[in-house]
Amino acid sequence: MHHPVTIIGGGLAGSEAALQLAARGIAVELWEQRPAVMTAAHTTDGLAELVCSNSLKSTDPARAAGLLKEELTQLGCRLLPLAFAHQVPGGAALCVDRERFSRAVTELIAAEPLITLRRAEFTGLPELVAEPGRIVILASGPLTSGALWAQVVKLVGDGGSYFYDATAPIISVQGIDRSVVFAQSRYEKGGGNDYLNCPFTPEEYLAFREALVSAEQIPLAAGDDYKLFEGCLPIEELARRGVDTMRFGPLKPKGLTDPRTGRWPYAAVQLRWEDALERALSLVGFQTRLRFGEQDRVFRLIPGLAGAHFTRHGRMHRNSYLDAPRVMAPTLALKAHPRVLVAGQLTGLEGYMAAVATGLWAGINAALLARGGAPQVPPEQSCLGAMFAFMANPAHSAYAPTAFSFGMCTWLPGHVRRDRKLRMIREGATGAWAEMRASLAAAGSSIVGEL
Ligand SMILES: Cc1cc2nc3c(=O)[nH]c(=O)nc-3n(C[C@H](O)[C@H](O)[C@H](O)COP(=O)(O)OP(=O)(O)OC[C@H]3O[C@@H](n4cnc5c(N)ncnc54)[C@H](O)[C@@H]3O)c2cc1C
Repeated sequence: MHHPVTIIGGGLAGSEAALQLAARGIAVELWEQRPAVMTAAHTTDGLAELVCSNSLKSTDPARAAGLLKEELTQLGCRLLPLAFAHQVPGGAALCVDRERFSRAVTELIAAEPLITLRRAEFTGLPELVAEPGRIVILASGPLTSGALWAQVVKLVGDGGSYFYDATAPIISVQGIDRSVVFAQSRYEKGGGNDYLNCPFTPEEYLAFREALVSAEQIPLAAGDDYKLFEGCLPIEELARRGVDTMRFGPLKPKGLTDPRTGRWPYAAVQLRWEDALERALSLVGFQTRLRFGEQDRVFRLIPGLAGAHFTRHGRMHRNSYLDAPRVMAPTLALKAHPRVLVAGQLTGLEGYMAAVATGLWAGINAALLARGGAPQVPPEQSCLGAMFAFMANPAHSAYAPTAFSFGMCTWLPGHVRRDRKLRMIREGATGAWAEMRASLAAAGSSIVGEL
């Protein structure tokens, strides 16, 4: 009689891993601390809650985020179909109604007889790891509870790190001045009118930047360094870095034609729908550490938002992750504890889809281990193969959270033209998917849908 596989954390990674295992007939004990113990960013008790943006990024297979989605579909991903089922307008990006998506995941897990959901903070890692034969998936995310994080750091021998990351505010649709704010996707991509845009004149932009850089921020915990994730900087940090930095980042006006002038504005803030009923919108790229009162004051200087009502303010959080190149293998197992797999943001692979991807592969490998087999490393020409090779590359001396990009495909020859490169990436991935399918079937762990 096997122990059930223990999964710690019912976020994107833990939920996907649990469903992968259950689909292979393996019992799972899934631990989720909410609602008894909340994190600083989650606001509900739902599984797979998206804590900040509701965007799962591009679906275009010529982009890294899109190809990764195609690969996950090929690999029988369980969460992606739910995301598509609860899609809201988002141009070329897959954006979801976060509440409906999370509810759908929670219901799917509740309906799965092989998954036992334990609603409590898990703090028994040393005992579990000491049990012979026990398989563990650590998927407690960037906001892992303090007690568990201390146990993880001890287990990996001080291979833990952190950085600061923030969430963006959400406003209700009432209070937006539609005589100023106009509906349009950049270059009319996707739904054409999927975003609302707040256009700035040069004077408005400069006044807004001035208010932003001088606004008061929430202080950090005592003794912490302010290490930021460069891929997702707070808006006030972008403003501080240069007069035009925001205009070349989240406030870029390109491809947005203001109907009042017939021209692109000087800068523009984009608002993206949060829910299918179109009641709330998030400010795209506006993750922030400003005090709540300062957010009300400064963000109401954005043209068209003078009467905005904030239903959620942005917040800054300390995010934990492992020094993966030192402590992890490209199977997602800990080098020192091969029956402990790590999934989600703790791997340092950044973003919602990377969390789902690592959850999927950790589930597949835990199933192989449970059946007495060996965990697999995805082929290097697959998206997962490129990501895990990057993650476990011992040459990284200062590992920092990184989202999947084609730059991780190190098997590509240098100096090839972009169109040829994209063709090679696609051909490489397609071949890798067939290879993965065959190799998993040979190991007795076929892709979900082919089981
Ligand atoms: C503030 C913030 C904003 C982010 N914004 C974005 C974004 O906009 N876009 C994006 O792509 N990515 C974003 N990320 C990064 C990352 O993609 C998400 O954090 C993602 O949810 C990670 O998935 P996960 O499954 O690893 O962790 P989570 O989704 O956080 O799930 C982990 C779960 O484990 C639970 N848990 C923690 N400790 C314990 C314990 N001891 N016992 C039991 N349960 C426990 C938590 O309650 C949580 O439900 C953000 C991260 C943070 C922290």
